[in-house]
Amino acid sequence: MFKSRKTSVNRFAAASTRQRVHIEQDSVLDSEYPFRLNFYLQPPPADITIEEFELFALDRLQVLKAVETSKLRNRNEEEYKKDIQLALDKYLPMKSNAAKTDLVEERRKDHISHFVLRLAYCRSEESREWFLRQEDALFKFRFEQENMDDKKRFLETANLDWKVVDPETKKRIQPQLERCVSGKTFKDKTTAASHVVNETYFEVPFEKVPDLVRRRGVYVHKGKAYVPMSNQISLVQDEFKKRLAKMLQATAKALPRLEEDDRLKPILLNVEKQYIGKIYTGSADSNGDLKAADVDVMVENHAPLCMRTLHSALRRDKHLKHGGRMQYGLFLKAIGLSVEEALLFWRTAFTNKTDEQFQKEYAYNIRHNYGLEGKRVSYTAYSCNTIIKGNSPSTGDYHGCPFRHFSNGNLEARLYKDKIPPDQVKEIMNLVHGSHYQVACTKYFEITHPRHDKIDTIEHPNAYYELSLGLTDEAMEVEKEIK
Ligand code: SF4
Repeated sequence: MFKSRKTSVNRFAAASTRQRVHIEQDSVLDSEYPFRLNFYLQPPPADITIEEFELFALDRLQVLKAVETSKLRNRNEEEYKKDIQLALDKYLPMKSNAAKTDLVEERRKDHISHFVLRLAYCRSEESREWFLRQEDALFKFRFEQENMDDKKRFLETANLDWKVVDPETKKRIQPQLERCVSGKTFKDKTTAASHVVNETYFEVPFEKVPDLVRRRGVYVHKGKAYVPMSNQISLVQDEFKKRLAKMLQATAKALPRLEEDDRLKPILLNVEKQYIGKIYTGSADSNGDLKAADVDVMVENHAPLCMRTLHSALRRDKHLKHGGRMQYGLFLKAIGLSVEEALLFWRTAFTNKTDEQFQKEYAYNIRHNYGLEGKRVSYTAYSCNTIIKGNSPSTGDYHGCPFRHFSNGNLEARLYKDKIPPDQVKEIMNLVHGSHYQVACTKYFEITHPRHDKIDTIEHPNAYYELSLGLTDEAMEVEKEIK
């Protein structure tokens, strides 16, 4: 894929400058990308620049996140399709064969981005499952959007081991096949019978089509399911998932070798660990507009639950342990607390400490976070991903994400305390039980900010804060206009 020093990673190493061999677009289209649909069995064929490697992957990640978010939010079918199509149009457009332009570039990007994410998400069982789930949903969406001709041609070349039911067998089981369609698709018996006669059926092991078996949409006999061509999506999906799961396992085994290329490892880690979106840093100077005296009210009104938990613990105990100081301190820095105000805020919060203790034990770290000590790096505020996947809080710690780290009882009690209605507490708890912590937080935001427009999933505590503050600013503007 890339030009590389190492032959073993030849296809994944980057050329510092583009050295693409010019190949006739039409012949590439025919040989590499005859269809929009792809089982991604072959590695991408062309050289890739290191920039493409990362950018393509991040774009695909946006699409997969849109798939996940739309499903988690229980969008109806029409809204779901609209969400995915919007994300695809923006990040990963793919025209059909009827279009004459950009086909190779679009399909190449799709191909490469799938492979990079496969590398980035093969490391752990959890990552593999997530990637498989989103890719499977994306494949299904694309398959359903594809026209019949291209679908058929794609399947003909996909080397699928499905046995077509011979006419004699079909005749023998005709009544059972009719029963599967009558009353559902067809109201009267005669139409159902003629449908079955004209339909092509495949015989497959029943475990390949669990959805159809569950819905009683297929006739099952002696471990075989008889699947009509019109339900082929279940079969195709099964093939897609099975092959991708196998390839993810193989990629996981090959990963240590691929990561010997020191250009790839940081990119893969970056892509896997996050799409953190905007980076929130803040600055050391006095230009931040938040005063130490205003922190209580601003945090209480606009900060997410994680930061309000830290703030309450700080006010109650007059102290926070290191993990909490880091998470909360960097958040405050990014919402506009300058280093002078931060020193004032923490000094007045730690009332149990003497000036000498404060200077010795805490002031250095605060200045360090603002890039005024040590390596002089201005540290960025933690994203939700970093907080959720970071060290779990132990006794006496208050850092972390309440949706991830609180016990069920504590989280429920907190939600009731914040006047979340019981049915919505249940909804949030269901999201938490499904490990959808950020979606649960987004739901919490929506309930506690009823004037909001549709928002994306919360990715960062500072994004939550900005959204909440934005709603207040908007309301003030409206008030001004009315006056
Ligand atoms: S999801 Fe993010 S913003 Fe929300 S509570 Fe957890 S860490 Fe904070």
